[in-house]
Amino acid sequence: MELRACKNCKRLYNHFSGETLCPTCNSQLDEIYREVKSYIYDNPNTTIQEVAETFNITIQTLHRWIREERLEFAGSSLVGLPCQGCGTTIKSGRYCESCKKSMIEGFSAAYESDQPKVQKEQKTSNNRMRFIK
Ligand SMILES: [Zn+2]
Ligand SMILES: [Zn+2]
Repeated sequence: MELRACKNCKRLYNHFSGETLCPTCNSQLDEIYREVKSYIYDNPNTTIQEVAETFNITIQTLHRWIREERLEFAGSSLVGLPCQGCGTTIKSGRYCESCKKSMIEGFSAAYESDQPKVQKEQKTSNNRMRFIK
């Protein structure tokens, strides 16, 4: 176990991978996330700044939710989330449509180095055996 200071309340907590907040702040943030989501649903033309001010959260937090595709703002011009490929404004995720497209085209080349930890399927020769009664 590793103790870390929560980024929000500065209390020490047992750190799990990927978390930057203590469990208390994390569940609070989850609560806020749910409220933000319904707020955006009710106010589809809201801006990211407005949401940040209304809920007293950082724009970075909202950007993270958008990157994780947990949130989507209706008006693309209102968000100002830059595509990580070309910098164009996007609504959600990390890349715009055209960058996604060109990434898919170059995907086979990139795939080699970026392969997930999937075990190669083991040859199941046992499956060829049949039980005959
Ligand atoms: Zn905390
Ligand atoms: Zn792009």
